[in-house]
Amino acid sequence: MLPAPIGVVLPHGRDVLLPAGRYLYAGSARGPGGMRARLARHQRADKTPHWHIDLLTMAGTMAGAWIFPGGDECAIVAGLGHLPVPLPGFGSSDCRRCVSHLLAWPDGIGIDLPDGGLASKWLP
Ligand SMILES: [Zn+2]
Repeated sequence: MLPAPIGVVLPHGRDVLLPAGRYLYAGSARGPGGMRARLARHQRADKTPHWHIDLLTMAGTMAGAWIFPGGDECAIVAGLGHLPVPLPGFGSSDCRRCVSHLLAWPDGIGIDLPDGGLASKWLP
């Protein structure tokens, strides 16, 4: 949840505002410490921003996460194609498949996460 708009610099140096609202971000955790370290980072407000998503998690609150062991964030984004893309390029600088890895999740719009036999859970 983002309580107030934040400024974001997108690829190619475009400076834009991300409006307040509820968002859903699809990311991977291939770095050191894996999923546990990545989720802990997303939940911390005090950090040096490295990725676009850091700007959102520093200014807003993370309500939870669905975990797909071995999952593919691009496939998850594709499966949620009915959700609006707030900022093309956000979180997908190094992705050639997706317009963005950040989706807006307006009230009243349901989501049907791809399962594909993968375990998933919501962490409050
Ligand atoms: Zn992607």
